[in-house]
Amino acid sequence: MIIIFNGEEKMVEKLKMYIDGEWVDSVSGETFEVKSPATGQVLAVLPKATVEDVKRAIDAAEEAQKRILALSIPERVKLAYKVAELIKPNIEQHARELTLEQGKPIRESRAEVEDVIPNITWNAEDLKRLETPVLRGYANPDMMYIVTREPLGVVGIITPWNYPWLMPAEYVMQAIICGNSVVYKPASYTPISAVRFVEYLVKAGVPKGVINLVTGPGEVVGQELARNEKVNGLLLVGETTTGEQVAKVAGVKKVTLELGGNGPMIVMDDANIEKAVEDAAFGCYNNAGQVCCATERILVHEKVHDKFVRMLVERTKKVKLGDPLKEDTDLGPMNNEPVVQKVERHIKDAVSKGAKILFGGKRAEGFPTKLYFEPTVIDNVTPDMLINKEETFGPVAPILTFSSIDEAIEIANGTPYGLSSAIHTKDLNTAFYFAEKLKTGQVVINGPVLLWDYHHPWVGVKKSGIGAVGGKWTLEAFTQLKTILLRIAKP
Ligand code: NAD
Repeated sequence: MIIIFNGEEKMVEKLKMYIDGEWVDSVSGETFEVKSPATGQVLAVLPKATVEDVKRAIDAAEEAQKRILALSIPERVKLAYKVAELIKPNIEQHARELTLEQGKPIRESRAEVEDVIPNITWNAEDLKRLETPVLRGYANPDMMYIVTREPLGVVGIITPWNYPWLMPAEYVMQAIICGNSVVYKPASYTPISAVRFVEYLVKAGVPKGVINLVTGPGEVVGQELARNEKVNGLLLVGETTTGEQVAKVAGVKKVTLELGGNGPMIVMDDANIEKAVEDAAFGCYNNAGQVCCATERILVHEKVHDKFVRMLVERTKKVKLGDPLKEDTDLGPMNNEPVVQKVERHIKDAVSKGAKILFGGKRAEGFPTKLYFEPTVIDNVTPDMLINKEETFGPVAPILTFSSIDEAIEIANGTPYGLSSAIHTKDLNTAFYFAEKLKTGQVVINGPVLLWDYHHPWVGVKKSGIGAVGGKWTLEAFTQLKTILLRIAKP
């Protein structure tokens, strides 16, 4: 089959998994297709792994432990830098492919692939400086406790489709430089980027068996990774329901879960409304709202409600929905049919309970696929609506109104999620009061809910996750503490 890529004719690629140092098919010979949400074309065909394939990858990773541990920390840091260097000249090519595979606008794809470089190199630097304490004995005054960190062993990494380049760049290389061997399972909507990423690791010289890539359904590949007793550490980034399924079978292994969000943005009556509108639009429409820390809900003080809503609608009218490969496109298609159906379900539920669509609200016509969704502003949202209670994950700005600080806090905290939130106010005391009361892993003051950097802790509370990642915390997630107890006595 022929497809058009970057204006040229190209065969549909038949890609492989990477197990024990070789590019392989599934033992079953079964495959699955990856279709572009932007064009509807089949981009590639990949192996559909079986449990047997996953077990083979886990065994290879176990065997390869000695190979990664044979490398000193400076040698592992060098590997990380080599991967980053190899990727650097090819950012544009990968960005275009990412846009075709995931659907996000080319400017966002470029930023995502560019971000791979600092993610890897910052963590390599963090590893150089990873500190652990030395403690003096208290109950045992002649003892000194030397605390160190050791790798976990075999680590399983399961990632979602919303950031197909950033996810492995945040976790896969980091697990390896910590001295683990990895079995990596990307989302089945976006495995092409994962193959490209792993190709760089292989090229850079990551030893045989230390990186294994297994593609296929979460219920098979992901579940086996979670369940298998030879896997010592597991990191899943995905939906809360998936996290619950993984936690049920994971048994006694170190599990880090980075799950869904339902980020509230609170706009007080003294807020800078222009800035709040800009941040709301960014958080709602970036990556078509398919971001764990998207602005999922906007809580606006009744005194500034009308002004805020008017300005947000005007701002939303300027969001250009279109071909994601065009430079001036702000909003591309959503990634897949189930996620669009979820958005439709939430909007329908809200409207049936009295919410009002002020702009957008439906799939857009005239595009190559049915995954293009209009940027949407929906007002009169109330706490009982699905759009407030659950993660919507679409280009939607739902507006709720409040009249007191207590009410805003109650609405914001009234969902099972707790990832990121934002408060807009000019009053320092109000800002810090909200910062203390909001039950989210991070609270942004006068900025978008969608805010993230390389080196601060990323924590989901309540049903948004278990454990921390980001900067040195990622390295901590992939290592365990060990204490050497030293007796110092007069010789
Ligand atoms: P998902 O949970 O459907 O899939 C995530 C990964 O888990 C995929 O690789 C999938 O194949 C696999 N999987 C699915 N079912 C599984 C099972 N039963 N056992 C093991 N693995 C299984 O999530 P998604 O739709 O790909 O991604 C969107 C979700 O990810 C959103 O909820 C978003 O908020 C969340 N997310 C969270 C963060 C964070 O840092 N907290 C970052 C990005 C995305």
